[in-house]
This record gives sequence, C-alpha cells and structure tokens, in this order.
Amino acid sequence: MQTTLPYPLLDVPAEASHRVALLRDVPPGELLIHEIYLSVQGESTFAGLPCVFVRTSVCDSRCRWCDTPHAFNQGTRMTRADVLAKALSFGCPLVEITGGEPLLQADVFALMTELCDAGKTVLLETSGAHDVTVVDSRVHVIMDLKCPDSGESHRNRWANLDALKPSDQIKFVIASRADWDWTASVVRKQRLDSRFTCLVSCVFSSVRPVELVGWLLESGLHRVRMQLQMHKYIWEPTTRGV
Ligand code: SF4
Repeated sequence: MQTTLPYPLLDVPAEASHRVALLRDVPPGELLIHEIYLSVQGESTFAGLPCVFVRTSVCDSRCRWCDTPHAFNQGTRMTRADVLAKALSFGCPLVEITGGEPLLQADVFALMTELCDAGKTVLLETSGAHDVTVVDSRVHVIMDLKCPDSGESHRNRWANLDALKPSDQIKFVIASRADWDWTASVVRKQRLDSRFTCLVSCVFSSVRPVELVGWLLESGLHRVRMQLQMHKYIWEPTTRGV
C-alpha cells in the first residue's frame, strides 16, 4: 500500500512513511540538505577523483549497515538555487547527489538537470527503491541492489533495470557469504555484468576484502568489479563530511 504525500514523486510504503515526515514541510523550490562539501570520490568507476557531494536528508530505507544514519533526520532547508550555487562554488567538474535517498525530494530532479546544464559530470547515488526513469539522461546513475542482509532487499525496484543506461552502475554491498551468493545469482540471471558496470564492496565490519575477492574470483564473474570504500581507508571509518 502506498501513502499519499505532498510530493508527487514520493513512493513510500505505509510502514516507512514516518521516516519521510520531515519532507512534508519542504515547499517546492527547496530541498532538505544534510551537507555539501568537497572531497574525493570513494566509490564507483569515478573513485579517486575530486568530487562535490550534495547529501540530501532523509531516507525511507533502513539498511542494517547504513553508514550515514546522521542524514536521516538532520538537515537544513535550502532553496534549489542556493544548493546549485554552493555546489558550483567549488569549481569542481564532478558532482555527486547522494543521501539519504535523493529521489525522495522532487527538486532533486531539476537540480541534477541544472548541474548538467552547467557542464558538470553528475553522479546520482540511489537506493534502488525509487523510479529512475525521470532522472536526466545525462546523469550517471549509481544504483544499489540491496542484498538480503541489508534488510531492505524487498524494496529493490526491479523495473529500474530496464530504465538504466549501459553507462550506469549497479552496486552490491556484501555483508555475508549469503549476500554474495545472492549477488552472483542476480548478476547471472539478469545478465547484469554485460548490461552495466557491476560493483561489489563489503560492509566494512562484516566481510574482509580478501574474502570478497576470493568469492569473486572463484565465481567466474570476471566483469564484476571489486571496490573498496576509499574514504574509509583515507580517514577514520566513522569520520563524517569526507
Ligand atoms: S538506502 Fe542508503 S542512506 Fe538509506 S538506509 Fe540504506 S544505506 Fe542508509
């Protein structure tokens, strides 16, 4: 059952609607923003590049291993124009929209288009629970498919796989051997490794990178890319705003 909320694009199950309550007071033309900062991209095929991060507040999912719970209910209302100006002020060619879950906020779509119009390479990190068909086609979508141990795999919006572009990226975060087996099965069944860039990374405290590399190599999935969350090695894993 879906709830009816002010934003036309909100698509949140009734049991999670309380998690998006903060967004009800955000009027059109504004966004609830957790932080905007310059750092180094830690994941995806863009890893290692300087990148401006626009982190939106609020998420309707609750992945057991989430490393940004501070974004669930802390944020500042900003006009979309101010968010755009702040993101552009760093003079960095790469901008990532992340969260929280960015696609919960209607103005995110126009913001991404405006960043593309300004000549930026725009990345979107999204949970995979929301429709990506309305995202500007110039945006590089980095979409999670949630593994069972996240507790949110029932929210995977499988129809999104037909909306993604070959240049988009699918990310699996692995917390156990069972998660890896699920991932390998999904990649094979959906032929994901020939349709998109597939990324696998491990939950920092649950699976050792050497274990995941072993599982990857023995699987024969030679087009799936192992990645480490680079920022957790550069800074202390719990450091925020990096
Ligand atoms: S979707 Fe992302 S922000 Fe939301 S709970 Fe999961 S990891 Fe955290």
